[in-house]
Amino acid sequence: MLEINATETVREGSIFGQISTMDHEQLVICHDQATGLKALIGIHNTVLGPALGGTRMWPYASEEEAITDVLRLSRGMTFKNALAGLNLGGGKAVIIGDPKLKNEAFLRRFGRFVESLGGRYVTAEDVNMKTSDMEYISMETRHVTGLPKIKGGAGDPSPVTAFGVYMGMKAAAKKAFGSDSLTGKKIGVQGVGQVGKYLIEYLVKEGAEILITDIFEGKLKEIARATGATVVDPNVIYDLPMDIYAPCALGATINDQSIDRLKCAVVAGGANNQLKDEAKHGKILLEKGIIYAPDFLINAGGVINVGAEYYGDYHEETVFSQTEKIYDTCLTILDKSEKENIPAQQAAIEAAKARIESIGRIKLPF
Ligand code: NAD
Repeated sequence: MLEINATETVREGSIFGQISTMDHEQLVICHDQATGLKALIGIHNTVLGPALGGTRMWPYASEEEAITDVLRLSRGMTFKNALAGLNLGGGKAVIIGDPKLKNEAFLRRFGRFVESLGGRYVTAEDVNMKTSDMEYISMETRHVTGLPKIKGGAGDPSPVTAFGVYMGMKAAAKKAFGSDSLTGKKIGVQGVGQVGKYLIEYLVKEGAEILITDIFEGKLKEIARATGATVVDPNVIYDLPMDIYAPCALGATINDQSIDRLKCAVVAGGANNQLKDEAKHGKILLEKGIIYAPDFLINAGGVINVGAEYYGDYHEETVFSQTEKIYDTCLTILDKSEKENIPAQQAAIEAAKARIESIGRIKLPF
């Protein structure tokens, strides 16, 4: 059996089982012999608009792993876009393989697959994809965003994502500690990539005590030198006492192996799909009294940024002020979670679904 989400398990290999459980509209398999491209595009829901979500390139160990990832990530985008107030649906793409495979022909071929969907799916960058990659994709399709600034795009969305995560973290701190000040708070940042490094800049300015970890040592030393952060081993981050744990690497770091090791009051970070099993691990965090700022709520800055570019209405100030609203939305969701004694993730999903249902005049089954 292959575990796919919070509550359901389906037969391994049953693609229709998975997409019907999570209620996806479409799963597209893209293959090109000449370039070696193997990609999957998941379109979860298009009630609010075209399904926008980035493309991730990763050397997945199996096709099942890639399918599960694209389905979980595209579902997350539906909730993220809805809760951020965007008129966009949820979608995501994954490319299976070593990022070194990328070249112009490969990316343009992927762009033609995106184009073949006629605008139902709009792509952007995600892990291992850069603004320069979007440029190649844009040679084949209009349905791409997150282009470099010199090409008239909004550029790398990570600084805006990090700002939103910072806003969500402050809201969660207010809920947990009664004040949103992060001064003197011990914060563990897991993953000092694009989002992590910009988040650290905000934390440094507030005078937080920062612990950093990454599987690439080189980046750590540089950031530690520049910010005074303390470097910790990636394997011990869960065991260290801290006020806030900020997952900014890959997903599913809150799982059966890590959850009982956490010694923090708040979890607030930029990574997508932090809870391996949404219902189970969300409930355990609630029972432990750990405030969880739902990932798709607080990491929406990036999609707010690329969404504005896609609709041809990009103003940096507006994007940042829209992203700042994550603070209020996060507090509202955390209040709902407390009042109804439900996990914060569930409270956030319910709020997102309510918006989609009200616009679509439908009752969603997922
Ligand atoms: P990135 O690839 O630039 O950075 C990820 C970092 O995590 C890398 O430095 C990597 O070495 C490190 N890492 C991987 N596994 C690790 C582990 N086990 N322990 C410690 N470090 C580890 O990616 P990014 O753009 O910073 O994105 C980070 C996360 O945020 C991803 O989950 C992504 O989906 C999510 N996210 C990013 C954006 C954005 O705008 N970039 C927007 C929304 C969500």
